[in-house]
Amino acid sequence: MQNVDVLIIGAGPIGLTCGIEAGKAGLSYVIIEKGCLVNSLYNYPANMTFFSTSDKLEIGDIPFVSINAKPTRAEALEYYRRATLHYNLNVRLFEPVETVRGSKDGFTVSTSKGEYRAANVIVSTGFYDVPVYLGVPGEDLPKVTHYYKDPHYYVMQKVAVIGAGNSAVDAALETYRKSAEVTMIVKGSEIDPRVKYWVRPDIVNRIKEGSIKGYFNSEVTAIREHEIDIETPEGLVTIQNDFVLAMTGYRPNFNFLKEIGINCSVDDRKLPSHDTETMETNVPGIYMAGVVCGGMDTHTYFIENSREHACKIVNHIKGKSGQ
Ligand code: FAD
Repeated sequence: MQNVDVLIIGAGPIGLTCGIEAGKAGLSYVIIEKGCLVNSLYNYPANMTFFSTSDKLEIGDIPFVSINAKPTRAEALEYYRRATLHYNLNVRLFEPVETVRGSKDGFTVSTSKGEYRAANVIVSTGFYDVPVYLGVPGEDLPKVTHYYKDPHYYVMQKVAVIGAGNSAVDAALETYRKSAEVTMIVKGSEIDPRVKYWVRPDIVNRIKEGSIKGYFNSEVTAIREHEIDIETPEGLVTIQNDFVLAMTGYRPNFNFLKEIGINCSVDDRKLPSHDTETMETNVPGIYMAGVVCGGMDTHTYFIENSREHACKIVNHIKGKSGQ
């Protein structure tokens, strides 16, 4: 059984940053990742462009060079791979963490491949694993997905895109430009004002000219094999449909947080309990880092403003050990 000062759960950008800072501080560490390196980014839409400029995505003081102001997913995969190799990070891939047991005197962490002993644990598990479900009949049909990947699959198909954020807008525009017949169903009265500023006018104008049909203040209430029902301000509308892209957001894996003893607020935000100065949770020795800290409020943290979690945590761990 491997014994480390710090065990980091998740090899996303922030888990990697925690590994870099732990290594620099002379702490022994291991990063355990259930999928591939930067697994969430790998699973983003294939043609995705970040809303952040490349400097805001940098970790470990390594310059992220991109020829465009906003880097693509492919560039980010390459960047984080190079950063991992540069720091020779101790990462174990395709090894889901299943349980964390113990107390401040030490934790036993069980994974799909074995057990580790760790004096401290950092939970940097992100929020991309669990979609926010619609909760309507038919959501489990194979034609419904919460993870849009690539437009070609939808060529000449009737596609319903649910949502009004960046993911929904990207999916709607990409599939429309690959000759899909696209309908957007939006709960609110407009496309989210936070949509990438250089993309928003495109979708607004496509809806205005009727190239993409938009239902606002509307919700999908049922999905069937060849059609969907939409509750609109004018009443119930049924449209023909081949595929549903439910871009309704994601949420942290609260079951996992609960199982390892982390309390979350009982309000709608479900904020995981942690001290924002040290990032230590209500379980002494277990820390939180990255976007998972925002609970249901997944717009609170992104890479730029959660990179600092790594230093806060490592400083606290060093302080505890009097180093
Ligand atoms: P993640 O990158 O999600 O990493 C968490 C990791 O933990 C994953 O690799 C996951 O597989 C792993 N994991 C989870 N559970 C376990 C387990 N039990 N055992 C082992 N491993 C586990 N942010 C920005 O700053 N700029 C952007 O432009 C931007 N664009 C985005 C676009 C999209 C489409 C989406 C969905 C998000 C975007 N974000 C952006 C947010 C972005 O996801 C996060 O900022 C970033 O990925 C957060 O890094 P993280 O390390 O906290 O979490």
